[in-house]
Amino acid sequence: MTSNSLAIALDWLSSAWDGKGPILVLTGAGISAESGIPTFRGEEGYWRIGSRNYFPQELATRAAFARMPEHIWGWYLYRRGVCRAAAPNAAHLALARLEQELAARGEAERFVLVTQNVDGLHLRAGNTLERTYQIHGNIDFMRSVDDRDTRIFPIPPEIGERWERGKPIGERERALLVCPDGTPARPHVLWFDESYDEERFRFHSTLAAIERAALAIVVGTSGSTNLPSMVVHRALERGIPLLILNRDESTFSAVARGRPAARFLQGRAGEYLPSVVDTVLAQAR
Ligand code: NAD
Repeated sequence: MTSNSLAIALDWLSSAWDGKGPILVLTGAGISAESGIPTFRGEEGYWRIGSRNYFPQELATRAAFARMPEHIWGWYLYRRGVCRAAAPNAAHLALARLEQELAARGEAERFVLVTQNVDGLHLRAGNTLERTYQIHGNIDFMRSVDDRDTRIFPIPPEIGERWERGKPIGERERALLVCPDGTPARPHVLWFDESYDEERFRFHSTLAAIERAALAIVVGTSGSTNLPSMVVHRALERGIPLLILNRDESTFSAVARGRPAARFLQGRAGEYLPSVVDTVLAQAR
């Protein structure tokens, strides 16, 4: 984690990428860690419901919602409050600048941002919804418990932005968290026991984007979810330059090792991503 390793990675980027073609950036919870939003596998730890402790991976499931919707809604409303109170950091702002500068050159379509984050911070930083694929949803929205209905709705403002940790929803919230046709709503996220689709989660658009990409940058993800793994493996198979920026070693840093077209840069997103974006913009033509 030295500036020396940053300089080496930037030198590599300048020589490995010819500056042409589309750029795909993939982000995970690590990019929002410096905004104060805990990662799942980080220090947030367990969540207590009744006399039992749960890990986030057990709560972010369809099965848990079916068993205890009041508690799962309460957990999401609490997490939403944490996200609403957070602000985009230097890494989010750098990616917004990347999209905006390419757009100013008339090359907006060269940029795609695929994010696993549900916190909405990329959009608040200035990336556009059109070019940001929120492949795990957005915590500010809800949708019907009936899967056939793919419409999404904002969480009603009457719910408020803050929610007490550990508090389940009650009658009042149950009446507010419904779709316009009266069907109960659920958080608009992709749970660990569910599958991607195009309409809600931009599954095919993401796969098409990595087929087209000439450069891929992966930031702050442990590499433990499906579609991100497919993206990284496809980038490796296609042999396009692939830069992995992560605070810790991860599944992705391991697969990058020994591949001539891939580099692992170990460090914090907020510290290193602005320089990576400067290099990409200087190189892009
Ligand atoms: P993860 O928690 O599995 O991994 C986060 C990775 O980020 C880790 O490898 C860690 O080393 C790295 N990291 C931590 N701080 C960093 C920093 N400052 N700079 C760079 N890297 C840093 O996260 P994931 O891979 O995104 O998977 C978790 C799942 O949970 C996702 O599907 C996501 O939808 C959800 N989630 C979202 C949020 C959010 O929206 N902010 C937060 C937690 C979990």
